[in-house]
Amino acid sequence: MIRRRRRRSTTALAFATGATLLLAGCATFPSQSQSKRPNIVLFLVDDLGWQDLSEPFGPARTEWNERYETPNVERLCREGTKFDNAYAHCVCSPTRVSLMTGMSAARHRVTHWTLKKNQLTDRRVNHLRPPAWNVNGLSNAHATPAAAVAPTLPGKLRDVGYRTILAGKAHLGAIGTPGCDPRNLGFDVNIAGWANGAPSSYLAEKNFLRRPGNEIWQVKGLERYHGEDLFLTDVLTTESIAAAEQAVTAGQPFFLYLTHYAVHTPLDADDRFVQKYRDRGLPESEARYAALIEGVDHSLGRVLDWLDNRGLADDTIVMFLSDNGGLSAHARAGEPHTHNTPLKSGKGTAYEGGVRVPLAVRWPGLVAADTTRDLPVLVDDVLPTLCQLAGADPACPDGVSFARTLLGGEQPQHPIFWHHPHYWGAVAPGAEPYSGVRFGRFKLLWFYASGRAELYDLEADLGEATDLAREQPEIAQRLRALLRAQLLECGAQVPTSPDGTPLALP
Ligand code: CA
Repeated sequence: MIRRRRRRSTTALAFATGATLLLAGCATFPSQSQSKRPNIVLFLVDDLGWQDLSEPFGPARTEWNERYETPNVERLCREGTKFDNAYAHCVCSPTRVSLMTGMSAARHRVTHWTLKKNQLTDRRVNHLRPPAWNVNGLSNAHATPAAAVAPTLPGKLRDVGYRTILAGKAHLGAIGTPGCDPRNLGFDVNIAGWANGAPSSYLAEKNFLRRPGNEIWQVKGLERYHGEDLFLTDVLTTESIAAAEQAVTAGQPFFLYLTHYAVHTPLDADDRFVQKYRDRGLPESEARYAALIEGVDHSLGRVLDWLDNRGLADDTIVMFLSDNGGLSAHARAGEPHTHNTPLKSGKGTAYEGGVRVPLAVRWPGLVAADTTRDLPVLVDDVLPTLCQLAGADPACPDGVSFARTLLGGEQPQHPIFWHHPHYWGAVAPGAEPYSGVRFGRFKLLWFYASGRAELYDLEADLGEATDLAREQPEIAQRLRALLRAQLLECGAQVPTSPDGTPLALP
């Protein structure tokens, strides 16, 4: 369904033309009618919650939308289309590998966050063991055969002439493995991307190092900024624009994957923005969190301004999204597990607070302005979508292109699958080994440790307060069968009991 908020696009004619061409059944974007391929900016924020913006991505404005100031995300949504049922996986690495491969987590097996070669990052418990998941990340021999040879999003775009740039947090492969360096995964240019999933410090003044001994988390490749009074988010933006400018000068279309370290912990104070949130009486951690968010928004504004001022806006797709739900289990002031209300729980969990994310796309003239679409989409779907729009090969194992919806058409809903057979570091509601599926208005979760199913009607109960598994056994059974079939088809790994017996699938 299409909902328009404020006004129609002023470029309806061009929009209709592009949509008609694509919807005529072309498998790829009709580049023969375009003088050049569109530039692509994939703007990913780390750990940004669904409501951690002044732009609402849900049915109503909430207290969180009131707290944060993100005028450039508002601008992006005014000038583009937002999706109010968009999803990621519940922690970093599975989302990032699925973004790069269009492959479900169950298939690529990077189901939890990665750091050191051959080392688990699961929280250890006595009652079960995690599966032998792909702890080394993308391009690892432990992956299924499909994952070991997966063509990546930047690789596919490079094949059709793009200059591919990563700036920020890569977190695709463990230290000492090929995937540790994004240049082994299809990127021509790597700015500050490595195996670390967070910065030691955001402060250039501290050389991006919180304290000696913390070097494993220190942001690499930005040594020339050491000692300066600059914040990491801003440095990455400067570097990104410079790298994209080089591609434009060279006459190449660019794919810029600007993947901010923010708003992940540590909650360093961004002095450009933090004081006003302190003045409003927010606790120090919350003031800093709000400032991290505003810093990301400021970065988005700089990129949009650059595109507009260079006359590139009409030729550039800008996609904004987050890699998992908002952090609430630790490091935040106030009651844990409440920072995403009315969504339940947060990052690292099976519930909506862990996986529901903001997603918005601007492409003037082709993607409608001031529009909201309710098609459920997942990060796995980004690769085929962008490849289709760019005229690159959209084939991938699991993702479903939503280009048709982006360009104003209609397409059938597809099921959204999650697979996270792990205990995350923190204890939180729903932070336990699970698989899940959303199809239509219903979402079914299967928790391995207890062998239990939960069923929620998200249209009536976005907060997942009422488990309908017993009341609606036929729907639960149907979704369980759908989930089970998908997991078997992907070769999904499951936890085992302490004696090595695999736990039951849904
Ligand atoms: Ca994350």
